[in-house]
Amino acid sequence: MQNTKRILITGAAGFLGSHLCDRFVKEGYHVIAMDNLITGRLKNIEHLFHLENFEFYNHDVSKFIHVPGKLDYILHFASPASPIDYLKIPIQTLKVGSLGIHNCLGLARVKNARVLIASTSEIYGDPLVHPQTEDYWGNVNPVGPRGVYDEAKRFQEAITMAYHTYHGVETRIVRIFNTYGPRMRLNDGRVLPAFIGQALRGEDLTIFGDGSQTRSFCYVDDLVEGIYRLLLSDYAQPVNIGNPDEITIKQFADEIIKLTNTTQKVVYHDLPVNDPKQRQPDITKAKEILKWEPKVNRAEGLKITYEYFKGLSSEELHHKEHNNFEKYIIK
Ligand code: UDP
Repeated sequence: MQNTKRILITGAAGFLGSHLCDRFVKEGYHVIAMDNLITGRLKNIEHLFHLENFEFYNHDVSKFIHVPGKLDYILHFASPASPIDYLKIPIQTLKVGSLGIHNCLGLARVKNARVLIASTSEIYGDPLVHPQTEDYWGNVNPVGPRGVYDEAKRFQEAITMAYHTYHGVETRIVRIFNTYGPRMRLNDGRVLPAFIGQALRGEDLTIFGDGSQTRSFCYVDDLVEGIYRLLLSDYAQPVNIGNPDEITIKQFADEIIKLTNTTQKVVYHDLPVNDPKQRQPDITKAKEILKWEPKVNRAEGLKITYEYFKGLSSEELHHKEHNNFEKYIIK
Protein backbone atom coordinates (compact mmCIF):
# COMPACT_ATOMS: atom_id res chain seq x y z
CA MET A 1 0.00 0.00 0.00
CA GLN A 2 1.13 3.50 -0.84
CA ASN A 3 0.75 4.88 2.67
CA THR A 4 2.32 2.01 4.56
CA LYS A 5 5.39 3.22 6.47
CA ARG A 6 8.57 1.39 5.55
CA ILE A 7 11.23 0.78 8.18
CA LEU A 8 14.72 -0.74 7.90
CA ILE A 9 15.89 -2.52 11.05
CA THR A 10 19.57 -3.50 11.16
CA GLY A 11 20.53 -6.23 13.60
CA ALA A 12 17.02 -7.52 13.08
CA ALA A 13 17.79 -11.12 14.02
CA GLY A 14 19.31 -10.15 17.35
CA PHE A 15 17.63 -10.04 20.72
CA LEU A 16 16.42 -6.41 20.58
CA GLY A 17 16.17 -6.23 16.78
CA SER A 18 13.77 -9.17 16.65
CA HIS A 19 11.47 -7.69 19.28
CA LEU A 20 11.47 -4.42 17.33
CA CYS A 21 10.54 -6.33 14.15
CA ASP A 22 7.58 -7.84 16.02
CA ARG A 23 6.44 -4.45 17.25
CA PHE A 24 6.65 -2.63 13.93
CA VAL A 25 5.02 -5.51 12.04
CA LYS A 26 2.22 -5.37 14.60
CA GLU A 27 1.89 -1.61 14.10
CA GLY A 28 1.32 -2.24 10.38
CA TYR A 29 4.72 -1.08 9.09
CA HIS A 30 6.51 -2.78 6.20
CA VAL A 31 9.63 -4.11 7.94
CA ILE A 32 12.87 -4.59 6.03
CA ALA A 33 15.03 -6.67 8.33
CA MET A 34 18.80 -6.78 7.87
CA ASP A 35 21.37 -8.92 9.66
CA ASN A 36 24.63 -10.67 8.78
CA LEU A 37 23.88 -13.33 11.41
CA ILE A 38 27.25 -13.07 13.19
CA THR A 39 25.53 -12.87 16.55
CA GLY A 40 21.88 -12.75 15.42
CA ARG A 41 19.83 -15.89 14.79
CA LEU A 42 17.19 -16.51 12.12
CA LYS A 43 15.20 -18.43 14.72
CA ASN A 44 14.32 -15.07 16.34
CA ILE A 45 12.48 -13.82 13.25
CA GLU A 46 11.44 -17.01 11.45
CA HIS A 47 7.86 -16.57 12.60
CA LEU A 48 7.63 -13.36 10.52
CA PHE A 49 8.87 -14.81 7.22
CA HIS A 50 5.44 -15.68 5.88
CA LEU A 51 4.14 -12.11 6.29
CA GLU A 52 3.76 -9.83 3.30
CA ASN A 53 4.90 -6.81 5.26
CA PHE A 54 8.20 -8.42 6.26
CA GLU A 55 11.35 -9.10 4.27
CA PHE A 56 14.84 -10.16 5.27
CA TYR A 57 18.25 -9.24 3.81
CA ASN A 58 21.24 -11.30 4.90
CA HIS A 59 23.69 -8.43 4.63
CA ASP A 60 26.53 -6.80 6.57
CA VAL A 61 25.51 -3.19 7.19
CA SER A 62 29.19 -2.17 7.33
CA LYS A 63 29.20 -2.71 3.55
CA PHE A 64 27.24 -0.50 1.13
CA ILE A 65 23.49 -0.85 1.65
CA HIS A 66 20.97 -0.77 -1.13
CA VAL A 67 17.27 -0.77 -0.28
CA PRO A 68 14.84 -0.34 -3.17
CA GLY A 69 11.79 1.87 -2.79
CA LYS A 70 10.89 4.50 -0.26
CA LEU A 71 12.06 4.36 3.32
CA ASP A 72 10.58 6.29 6.23
CA TYR A 73 12.62 5.05 9.16
CA ILE A 74 15.89 3.30 9.93
CA LEU A 75 16.67 1.66 13.27
CA HIS A 76 20.38 0.86 13.59
CA PHE A 77 20.58 -2.02 16.05
CA ALA A 78 23.32 -4.09 14.44
CA SER A 79 26.23 -4.66 16.82
CA PRO A 80 27.69 -7.32 19.02
CA ALA A 81 26.45 -6.23 22.44
CA SER A 82 27.83 -8.46 25.14
CA PRO A 83 31.39 -8.25 26.49
CA ILE A 84 32.12 -11.82 25.34
CA ASP A 85 30.91 -11.05 21.81
CA TYR A 86 32.75 -7.82 21.33
CA LEU A 87 35.94 -9.35 22.65
CA LYS A 88 35.63 -12.18 20.16
CA ILE A 89 34.93 -9.85 17.22
CA PRO A 90 36.38 -6.46 18.16
CA ILE A 91 37.02 -5.21 14.63
CA GLN A 92 33.49 -5.97 13.43
CA THR A 93 32.21 -4.22 16.54
CA LEU A 94 34.16 -1.09 15.66
CA LYS A 95 33.11 -1.29 12.01
CA VAL A 96 29.38 -1.67 12.61
CA GLY A 97 29.43 1.31 14.99
CA SER A 98 31.32 3.46 12.48
CA LEU A 99 31.05 2.26 8.86
CA GLY A 100 27.66 0.67 9.58
CA ILE A 101 26.06 3.83 10.89
CA HIS A 102 27.75 5.88 8.15
CA ASN A 103 25.97 3.72 5.58
CA CYS A 104 22.66 4.07 7.44
CA LEU A 105 22.98 7.84 7.63
CA GLY A 106 23.91 8.06 3.94
CA LEU A 107 20.89 5.95 3.07
CA ALA A 108 18.70 8.11 5.32
CA ARG A 109 19.88 11.21 3.50
CA VAL A 110 19.05 9.81 0.09
CA LYS A 111 15.68 8.45 1.21
CA ASN A 112 14.77 11.31 3.50
CA ALA A 113 14.28 8.84 6.32
CA ARG A 114 14.49 9.32 10.09
CA VAL A 115 17.24 7.34 11.82
CA LEU A 116 17.20 6.04 15.38
CA ILE A 117 20.43 4.58 16.72
CA ALA A 118 20.93 2.13 19.53
CA SER A 119 23.40 3.71 21.88
CA THR A 120 24.15 2.33 25.30
CA SER A 121 24.82 3.03 28.95
CA GLU A 122 28.37 1.84 28.10
CA ILE A 123 29.08 5.30 26.74
CA TYR A 124 29.12 6.38 30.41
CA GLY A 125 31.89 3.80 31.02
CA ASP A 126 32.56 3.15 34.72
CA PRO A 127 30.45 6.15 35.74
CA LEU A 128 31.50 8.72 38.31
CA VAL A 129 28.01 10.24 38.31
CA HIS A 130 25.19 8.19 39.76
CA PRO A 131 22.49 7.68 38.58
CA GLN A 132 23.53 8.51 35.03
CA THR A 133 21.90 11.53 33.44
CA GLU A 134 22.16 12.20 29.71
CA ASP A 135 24.37 15.25 30.27
CA TYR A 136 27.11 13.13 31.89
CA TRP A 137 30.01 12.60 29.44
CA GLY A 138 31.27 9.37 30.88
CA ASN A 139 34.43 7.70 32.13
CA VAL A 140 35.61 5.37 29.38
CA ASN A 141 38.97 3.70 28.84
CA PRO A 142 39.43 3.81 25.04
CA VAL A 143 42.18 1.19 25.01
CA GLY A 144 40.68 -1.21 27.56
CA PRO A 145 38.90 -4.40 26.48
CA ARG A 146 35.50 -2.69 26.45
CA GLY A 147 36.89 0.26 24.45
CA VAL A 148 36.00 -1.34 21.10
CA TYR A 149 32.33 -1.26 21.99
CA ASP A 150 32.20 1.89 24.09
CA GLU A 151 34.13 4.04 21.65
CA ALA A 152 32.27 2.66 18.63
CA LYS A 153 29.02 3.65 20.31
CA ARG A 154 30.37 7.08 21.25
CA PHE A 155 31.53 7.64 17.67
CA GLN A 156 28.11 6.48 16.50
CA GLU A 157 26.45 9.18 18.57
CA ALA A 158 28.91 11.80 17.26
CA ILE A 159 28.41 11.00 13.58
CA THR A 160 24.65 10.81 14.06
CA MET A 161 24.62 14.24 15.64
CA ALA A 162 26.86 15.54 12.83
CA TYR A 163 24.46 14.30 10.15
CA HIS A 164 21.64 15.89 12.09
CA THR A 165 23.41 19.22 12.42
CA TYR A 166 25.15 19.47 9.05
CA HIS A 167 22.86 17.55 6.75
CA GLY A 168 19.55 18.07 8.50
CA VAL A 169 18.90 14.33 8.81
CA GLU A 170 16.22 13.57 11.38
CA THR A 171 17.91 11.52 14.08
CA ARG A 172 17.08 9.95 17.44
CA ILE A 173 19.51 8.48 19.98
CA VAL A 174 18.44 5.96 22.60
CA ARG A 175 20.88 5.05 25.38
CA ILE A 176 19.89 1.54 26.33
CA PHE A 177 20.62 0.21 29.81
CA ASN A 178 20.80 -3.52 30.63
CA THR A 179 17.78 -5.21 29.07
CA TYR A 180 16.57 -8.78 29.34
CA GLY A 181 13.84 -11.06 28.10
CA PRO A 182 13.11 -13.99 25.80
CA ARG A 183 15.53 -14.54 22.86
CA MET A 184 18.66 -13.50 24.72
CA ARG A 185 21.40 -15.89 23.70
CA LEU A 186 22.05 -18.44 26.37
CA ASN A 187 25.80 -18.29 25.92
CA ASP A 188 26.47 -14.65 25.11
CA GLY A 189 28.16 -14.23 28.49
CA ARG A 190 25.65 -11.72 29.86
CA VAL A 191 24.81 -12.18 33.47
CA LEU A 192 21.15 -13.16 33.14
CA PRO A 193 21.49 -15.96 30.56
CA ALA A 194 24.69 -17.03 32.31
CA PHE A 195 22.96 -17.46 35.67
CA ILE A 196 19.77 -19.03 34.31
CA GLY A 197 21.75 -21.37 32.03
CA GLN A 198 23.93 -22.42 34.94
CA ALA A 199 20.90 -23.07 37.14
CA LEU A 200 19.23 -25.14 34.40
CA ARG A 201 22.38 -27.20 33.80
CA GLY A 202 22.90 -27.76 37.51
CA GLU A 203 26.09 -25.70 37.66
CA ASP A 204 27.16 -23.16 40.26
CA LEU A 205 26.41 -19.50 39.46
CA THR A 206 29.56 -17.54 38.55
CA ILE A 207 29.74 -14.13 40.20
CA PHE A 208 32.52 -11.91 38.89
CA GLY A 209 34.20 -9.85 41.61
CA ASP A 210 32.54 -9.76 45.02
CA GLY A 211 29.09 -9.20 43.50
CA SER A 212 28.74 -5.71 44.97
CA GLN A 213 28.68 -4.09 41.49
CA THR A 214 25.20 -2.96 40.50
CA ARG A 215 23.04 -3.05 37.37
CA SER A 216 19.44 -2.06 36.66
CA PHE A 217 17.54 -4.49 34.45
CA CYS A 218 14.77 -3.47 32.07
CA TYR A 219 12.28 -5.93 30.59
CA VAL A 220 12.41 -5.97 26.78
CA ASP A 221 8.76 -4.97 26.18
CA ASP A 222 9.28 -1.81 28.24
CA LEU A 223 12.39 -0.97 26.25
CA VAL A 224 10.61 -1.48 22.92
CA GLU A 225 7.81 0.84 24.03
CA GLY A 226 10.35 3.53 24.95
CA ILE A 227 12.09 3.19 21.58
CA TYR A 228 8.79 3.33 19.73
CA ARG A 229 7.84 6.55 21.48
CA LEU A 230 11.27 8.10 20.96
CA LEU A 231 11.23 7.33 17.24
CA LEU A 232 7.90 9.09 16.83
CA SER A 233 8.89 12.04 19.06
CA ASP A 234 10.57 15.19 17.82
CA TYR A 235 13.50 14.98 20.25
CA ALA A 236 16.98 14.64 18.71
CA GLN A 237 19.14 14.61 21.87
CA PRO A 238 20.04 11.30 23.60
CA VAL A 239 17.46 9.72 25.89
CA ASN A 240 18.16 7.04 28.53
CA ILE A 241 15.77 4.10 28.43
CA GLY A 242 16.10 1.59 31.23
CA ASN A 243 14.61 0.49 34.50
CA PRO A 244 16.00 2.43 37.48
CA ASP A 245 15.41 -0.48 39.88
CA GLU A 246 19.07 -1.06 40.83
CA ILE A 247 20.37 -4.29 42.33
CA THR A 248 23.77 -5.80 43.17
CA ILE A 249 24.89 -8.81 41.15
CA LYS A 250 24.98 -10.88 44.35
CA GLN A 251 21.32 -9.99 45.05
CA PHE A 252 20.54 -10.80 41.45
CA ALA A 253 22.16 -14.24 41.79
CA ASP A 254 20.06 -14.85 44.91
CA GLU A 255 16.90 -13.93 42.98
CA ILE A 256 17.79 -16.37 40.19
CA ILE A 257 18.52 -19.12 42.70
CA LYS A 258 15.09 -18.58 44.25
CA LEU A 259 13.33 -18.34 40.88
CA THR A 260 14.88 -21.51 39.49
CA ASN A 261 14.74 -23.44 42.76
CA THR A 262 18.29 -24.61 42.15
CA THR A 263 20.31 -26.19 44.92
CA GLN A 264 23.52 -24.85 43.37
CA LYS A 265 25.56 -22.17 45.11
CA VAL A 266 27.44 -19.11 43.90
CA VAL A 267 31.16 -19.21 43.12
CA TYR A 268 33.37 -16.15 42.77
CA HIS A 269 35.69 -15.30 39.85
CA ASP A 270 37.92 -12.28 39.30
CA LEU A 271 36.20 -9.13 38.08
CA PRO A 272 36.78 -8.38 34.36
CA VAL A 273 38.88 -5.31 33.53
CA ASN A 274 36.93 -2.02 33.55
CA ASP A 275 33.70 -3.69 34.64
CA PRO A 276 31.48 -0.76 35.70
CA LYS A 277 30.91 -0.73 39.46
CA GLN A 278 27.48 0.81 39.35
CA ARG A 279 24.80 1.56 36.79
CA GLN A 280 21.38 3.10 37.07
CA PRO A 281 19.56 5.22 34.51
CA ASP A 282 18.12 8.59 35.39
CA ILE A 283 14.93 8.46 33.32
CA THR A 284 13.59 11.94 34.07
CA LYS A 285 13.89 12.91 30.40
CA ALA A 286 12.07 9.83 29.13
CA LYS A 287 9.29 10.46 31.62
CA GLU A 288 8.94 14.10 30.65
CA ILE A 289 9.44 13.93 26.91
CA LEU A 290 8.07 10.50 26.04
CA LYS A 291 5.67 10.06 28.96
CA TRP A 292 7.41 6.71 29.35
CA GLU A 293 8.41 4.63 32.32
CA PRO A 294 8.89 0.89 32.77
CA LYS A 295 5.84 -1.13 33.72
CA VAL A 296 7.16 -4.68 34.18
CA ASN A 297 8.83 -5.35 37.52
CA ARG A 298 11.77 -7.72 37.80
CA ALA A 299 9.79 -10.56 39.39
CA GLU A 300 7.32 -10.63 36.48
CA GLY A 301 9.95 -10.13 33.79
CA LEU A 302 12.26 -12.80 35.18
CA LYS A 303 9.43 -15.30 35.35
CA ILE A 304 8.60 -14.85 31.65
CA THR A 305 12.28 -15.00 30.73
CA TYR A 306 12.85 -18.14 32.79
CA GLU A 307 9.92 -19.85 31.02
CA TYR A 308 11.57 -19.03 27.70
CA PHE A 309 14.90 -20.54 28.73
CA LYS A 310 13.18 -23.60 30.17
CA GLY A 311 11.59 -24.18 26.75
CA LEU A 312 14.99 -24.50 25.00
CA SER A 313 16.04 -27.95 23.83
CA SER A 314 18.58 -29.87 25.85
CA GLU A 315 20.97 -29.51 22.89
CA GLU A 316 20.70 -25.73 23.01
CA LEU A 317 21.08 -25.72 26.75
CA HIS A 318 24.23 -27.82 26.71
CA HIS A 319 25.82 -26.42 23.55
CA LYS A 320 28.28 -24.09 25.15
CA GLU A 321 30.75 -22.10 23.15
CA HIS A 322 33.33 -21.68 25.81
CA ASN A 323 32.83 -18.35 27.53
CA ASN A 324 36.41 -17.33 27.59
CA PHE A 325 36.12 -14.62 30.18
CA GLU A 326 39.64 -15.52 31.40
CA LYS A 327 40.87 -13.34 28.53
CA TYR A 328 39.83 -10.11 30.18
CA ILE A 329 40.28 -10.87 33.84
CA ILE A 330 42.72 -8.74 35.84
CA LYS A 331 45.63 -10.97 36.85
N1 UDP B 1 28.66 -11.09 35.64
C1 UDP B 1 28.81 -12.06 36.61
N2 UDP B 1 28.78 -13.38 36.24
C2 UDP B 1 28.60 -13.79 34.96
C3 UDP B 1 28.43 -12.80 33.95
C4 UDP B 1 28.47 -11.45 34.32
O1 UDP B 1 28.97 -11.74 37.80
O2 UDP B 1 28.59 -15.01 34.70
C5 UDP B 1 28.69 -9.67 36.03
C6 UDP B 1 29.59 -8.77 35.19
O3 UDP B 1 30.91 -8.81 35.67
C7 UDP B 1 28.93 -7.43 35.37
C8 UDP B 1 27.45 -7.77 35.51
O4 UDP B 1 27.38 -9.15 35.85
O5 UDP B 1 29.37 -6.81 36.54
C9 UDP B 1 26.64 -7.54 34.24
O6 UDP B 1 27.33 -8.15 33.20
P1 UDP B 1 26.78 -8.23 31.71
O7 UDP B 1 27.86 -8.84 30.89
O8 UDP B 1 25.46 -8.88 31.72
O9 UDP B 1 26.51 -6.73 31.28
P2 UDP B 1 27.36 -5.37 31.38
O10 UDP B 1 28.62 -5.58 32.19
O11 UDP B 1 27.64 -5.01 29.99
O12 UDP B 1 26.42 -4.48 32.08
